[in-house]
Amino acid sequence: MHMLWGSIPTDLTQDNTRGDDRHEMRDDKSILLVHAAGACDATGFHHADVSAVVRLSTSPNTSHVELIAIGPRAELAAHPAAIGRDPIDLPHCILIPGLTNAHAHLDLTHLGPRPFDADAGFVAWIGGILKARDELATPVADAVRLGIAKSQAGGVVAIGDISGTPEAAQILRDGPLRGIGFLEVFGLGDRAASNWARTLETLESMHAPGDEDAPLRISVQPHAPYSASRDVYDDASSWAATHAMPIATHWSETPAEFEFVAQRTGPMCNFLKRLGIADARALEEFGHGATPIEHVEECVRGTRVIAAHVNHATDNDIDILAQLGATVAYCPRASAYFHHDTMFGPHRYRDMLARGINVALGTDSIICHPAEQADRLSTLDDARLLHARDGLSPQEALALITINGARALGLDESAFVFPHTGAHATLAGLNVVDANGVQGDPATRVMRATTPAEPLEFRLAQRLDARAAVR
Ligand SMILES: [Zn+2]
Repeated sequence: MHMLWGSIPTDLTQDNTRGDDRHEMRDDKSILLVHAAGACDATGFHHADVSAVVRLSTSPNTSHVELIAIGPRAELAAHPAAIGRDPIDLPHCILIPGLTNAHAHLDLTHLGPRPFDADAGFVAWIGGILKARDELATPVADAVRLGIAKSQAGGVVAIGDISGTPEAAQILRDGPLRGIGFLEVFGLGDRAASNWARTLETLESMHAPGDEDAPLRISVQPHAPYSASRDVYDDASSWAATHAMPIATHWSETPAEFEFVAQRTGPMCNFLKRLGIADARALEEFGHGATPIEHVEECVRGTRVIAAHVNHATDNDIDILAQLGATVAYCPRASAYFHHDTMFGPHRYRDMLARGINVALGTDSIICHPAEQADRLSTLDDARLLHARDGLSPQEALALITINGARALGLDESAFVFPHTGAHATLAGLNVVDANGVQGDPATRVMRATTPAEPLEFRLAQRLDARAAVR
């Protein structure tokens, strides 16, 4: 449901706005009339040549936009909030709602894009990343702030971020993004209980009464079935369910993970032993032929799960995901970077969607992004990959980076779609995509363009300053 304000007519043929309100609105300098080349969202709102009447918030730490009205230019010209207002022309720009990112690691942003050596493999890559992080020694707070800035620069307003440390979660919570920060927990065998106890202490210390209404909440992520024991999954799931939040996790990311969980052999097994993580007790629960999802399925029943990757899924895995009501946070650029589609075959996200599973896109960390996209951290680039590679329709692609992400993060989906023509709504964000020189209908132009989605307030900042100077 979209929120409707009483004083704004939703039927434009009937102007029942009180005269006082109309004059007040006309004099309000924070209200802008924007003419754009088009607008589209995931629910079928789709028009070329649109106008939007927007009230921009001046507070730097809120990411919401009051959309007084949006619609085809000819229809909106009669709207009381549009009449007599100087338009701002964005002739090549398409308006889209604020975006979601269902899986990110903002605290790795300072590492920047890095190459992947397919011959050395995933396990060697993890070792390289840990080493690079130690060498750079960038403060966590700086890395997370950089990640937040790059998210905003890519039109992302809501995030499911994995926080490697309590400090990372704290910075995220104090920032402008909404969504959930998932405090990450590892722990196999003898370490599992003490690691969980420490995480629980942090989680409890970060929670206060009234948090359920906070724009950004803190939950927990058991890292993956090969690095967090079933006891840790049990404890984390119970805690999250008690607080009415989802957990996040990495499921079914690599062939090495499948081999280790099912057979207790292979490069992941050797890596864990080398790190001293996989003691005899830790290894007991592996090697029984289960897929990673089957391995922890019972532990997470009754808790919402945001499962990152799921690069490979058996039919039974897909049944389990559907029964759990899980969200799959598919990270297309990350999967392509690690060549998972050549190892596993194409990702089954469309089978999952057809089965009623909520699929939302995530960026994963900036490490696996092409350098030319590293000025931002945005799921629009992942959606574009699916549109170009798989022919996913622009509207379906937009759903994966707006309403499906909102559903995963427990946010109001109506803040990520446009209201009916002329109606009033409060959105989580309003972006512009400069599609100059790109042909097609508005949604196709958004998917074919290579420019980032940019918050309207960023786009207009210079012009608004110029306007203020003239006055
Ligand atoms: Zn991840």
